[in-house]
Amino acid sequence: MKWISKRRIMSFIFMSILILVAGCVYKSKLPPLCEKLECEKQIIITNVDLFNGDPDQGIMENVNILIENGRIIKIGKFPPSGVDAEIIDGKGKMVIPGLIDAHTHVVSPGSPPWFPVMPGEELIRRNFSSYLYAGITTVYDMGGPLHDLEKIKADIEAKEQVNPRFFYAGKMLTQKGGHPERMLKELIPWPVDVMTIGKLVFLINEPADIAPAIKENKAHGATLTKIMVDQIPFGVPSLREPLIEAIVSESKKTDLMVCAHIGSETDLLTALNSGVRFFAHTPYRSSISDITIQSIGEKEIVVIPTLVAFDQAADFFADTLSFSDLEKEIIEPNILEAYINIPDGGLEAKDPQFQIWIHELQVHREIKYENVRKMKAAGVTLIAGSDSPNVAAVAGGSLHKEMRLLVEKCGFTPMEAVASATSVSGDILGRITGIRGLGRIVVGGPADLVMLNGDFREDIRRTENIHMVVSNGRIVERKIQ
Ligand SMILES: [Zn+2]
Repeated sequence: MKWISKRRIMSFIFMSILILVAGCVYKSKLPPLCEKLECEKQIIITNVDLFNGDPDQGIMENVNILIENGRIIKIGKFPPSGVDAEIIDGKGKMVIPGLIDAHTHVVSPGSPPWFPVMPGEELIRRNFSSYLYAGITTVYDMGGPLHDLEKIKADIEAKEQVNPRFFYAGKMLTQKGGHPERMLKELIPWPVDVMTIGKLVFLINEPADIAPAIKENKAHGATLTKIMVDQIPFGVPSLREPLIEAIVSESKKTDLMVCAHIGSETDLLTALNSGVRFFAHTPYRSSISDITIQSIGEKEIVVIPTLVAFDQAADFFADTLSFSDLEKEIIEPNILEAYINIPDGGLEAKDPQFQIWIHELQVHREIKYENVRKMKAAGVTLIAGSDSPNVAAVAGGSLHKEMRLLVEKCGFTPMEAVASATSVSGDILGRITGIRGLGRIVVGGPADLVMLNGDFREDIRRTENIHMVVSNGRIVERKIQ
C-alpha cells in the first residue's frame, strides 16, 4: 500500500515537472475513436469470401461464419439462423483475420518532438482505439514502462472496454549510455529524462545487473526480454556478446525468449552469435552480406522488419513526410497540424553523431528492402510490425503501410503480406504468450476479424478499406469523433 501511494506521488511529480518544463503540453482530449457495441448474442456473417490467414488454403468463397462468446463456432454453407442472432450481410466483401502489430509502443504520443503530449490513460485509450479502427486486434508492446503496461493489461482484462489483445516486453535492457538512454536525454529536459529512462529501461553494466532486471519484468507480466543492440545516435555504446549471452541464458531460466533491436549487420551478428534468434528491425543502416544471409538461413530466425518506421523517419528528417488516407482519419488533427507546421530548425539535429545516424538511415533506404528480400529468399520468418506510434508512425495506419512495403518493395504476394500480419505473427505470438489460434480464422479460435470492402489480392491497399472489425467476438463501432 505504501509502495502504491509512493508511486502515485512520483507520477504526480513526473506530470507536474513535465508540464512545467514543456510549457505548453498538449493533452489528448478526444474521446475514443471506437465504441463497443455490446453483443452477447450470436453473430452470423453471411455469403462472405474468407481468407483464413493461411496462403496455402487460398480463399473460401461465399461462406457463412458463426461467432459466439468470442469464438468462431462454425464456418461453411450452413443456414444462417439463430435465436436472436445478429446477421451481417457479407456479400461482395472479404473477411481476413484481425491484424496483429508485433511491434508497438502503446504509451508513445506519436507526435513530433516539438509537440509534447501529456502521457496518461486518455492517450493510451486513443492509441488502442486507433489500432482497433485500423483492424488491428492484437498489439505487442516492444518496450515501455513496465508498471504502467501491467496496469493497462489488468484494465483490459477487466473487460470494461473493447480493446485489442495486449502483450508486452516490459522494460528494455540496454548498455549504459546506449540507445534509447542517449536519445531520451537529447529529447527530454532534465530531470524528467532521468525519470523517463528509469521507467523504460534497465541499464546493464555488468552480469550482476541482468537477473534482477529479467526477474522484475517477468514478475510484472512481461512475455519477452527485449534488448537493444544498435547505435542511435551513431557511436553510442551497445550491448556486447558476453552480456547478451548472459541475458539469453538468464531469460531461458525464466522461460522468456529474447528479442534484439538491431540496426546493422554487425549488430545482427553480435546478437546472433550470442544466441539470439528473434530480431526487431531488419538492418536499416547497412546491407547484409551473403555469408550472413547464408548463416541466418541455416537457423530458425524470426525478424520484424518495421520498414515503415525507418521510411517515415527518413521522410520526417527530409521534410517529405506524408500520411495515408487511413492515417489521416486516425491521427489527431492537432498532431497532424504539428507535423505540417514545422518550427524553425525543428528538423535539424545539432549533434553531429545524430546527423551521421540520419545520413545512414537515408542512404540505406532502398538497401533495407533488399535485406528483407534476401532474408525472405533464405527462409527467414518475417512478421509485420510498425514501431508505432513513435514519431511519424501513426498507430494502426502504419501497419497497413508496412504490408504495402512488403508487397511493393520486398516481393511478397498480397496474401503473404497479410499472413505476415496474421497467421505468421500469430504463430510466433502464440509461442510467446501461450494463446492458440491468434491471426487465424478457424473453428474454436478467437473471433478477431476484419471485413474489407474488396479483394486485397488485387491491390494490397484494399486492407485499408475496412467495412467492419470484430474484436474478441464483439463488433467494433468504427466512428470518428
Ligand atoms: Zn520499437
